Amino acid sequence: AAKDAGKGERRFFDPHMQETISQRLLLEEDIIRGLEAREFGVYFQAQFNSDSQLIGVESLVRWHHPKRGLLSPAAFIDVAEAAGIMSQIDSVVLLRSCEQMAKWTRLPAFSEITVSVNISPAQLYQHGFVEEVLNVVSDTGADPKRLKLELTESMLVTDMQQAIARMRQLKQAGIRFSIDDFGTGYSSLQYLQQLPLDQLKIDQSFVRGLPEDTSSLAIIRAVIAMATSLGLEVIAEGVETEVQRDILLANGCGLYQGYWYAKPLPAEQVEQLDIIDNATSTKALG
Ligand code: C2E
Ligand code: MG
Ligand code: MG
Ligand code: MG
Repeated sequence: AAKDAGKGERRFFDPHMQETISQRLLLEEDIIRGLEAREFGVYFQAQFNSDSQLIGVESLVRWHHPKRGLLSPAAFIDVAEAAGIMSQIDSVVLLRSCEQMAKWTRLPAFSEITVSVNISPAQLYQHGFVEEVLNVVSDTGADPKRLKLELTESMLVTDMQQAIARMRQLKQAGIRFSIDDFGTGYSSLQYLQQLPLDQLKIDQSFVRGLPEDTSSLAIIRAVIAMATSLGLEVIAEGVETEVQRDILLANGCGLYQGYWYAKPLPAEQVEQLDIIDNATSTKALG
């Protein structure tokens, strides 16, 4: 057993550990193969306002694996990040998201919506990140004002001055920023007011606690108060029930994303959603 080993010695031949390392290496090679084979694609999850109008989508990466089927990011993100290849996946997602936004401009209910793209820590700090985003936007004809980049608190504190400088350059082109999983990291008003932000995204772990959990509700209220005092938009993710939506609305959160509205779907299926868009139906009638 491990405790029989001498002090300072390591168990290099732990069979479980060996297997894990070789599995990770195999997965890493498989991701590189999958990238070359263009197996990575994007699903879109719709976002709604309190009138149930479609206001945006979030792009979520999916791996269409030839043997393992459809894979969610949980199956590969950790290994891709550790191997330094997550930014290649992110580039695919950014390109597909901007292409889709440009296509949707011709579809009335989709012509004004925002498209939110998750940015990984390595991508934000990568050399040439700002140029890449600006190039993709201009190459695809996407509207930069309708592109939102989702960052997390932990990646911002890594090198806040560098992060702010990059965000400012992108903001000059009209691109907007959202803090994902808000409330799960280092959240203080002082650091928030230094960042050029547009939106806070209430983490689904707090929404999940509704309606019973009073501490989740207290945190949600605090996040909404923070957003309001900083002049930021606030959106809740992981909304699974109407009760949750109603509590959020009653507390001042008017934007929602979650299974109660729609799961992440391929673009063609998002277009088939039964979207209650008063503005559009009025236009269609007139
Ligand atoms: P996230 O950005 O916070 O995305 C929300 C996740 O919650 C998505 O999981 C979504 O499918 C799931 N979700 C949405 N509504 C509900 C709901 O009502 N209930 C529950 N239980 N879950 C819901 P997904 O697609 O598996 O993504 C997981 C995480 O992987 C994302 O969390 C994001 O951090 C990361 N990720 C996804 N796509 C990308 C990408 O293209 N690039 C990067 N860098 N990260 C990504
Ligand atoms: Mg996100
Ligand atoms: Mg999130
Ligand atoms: Mg998350």
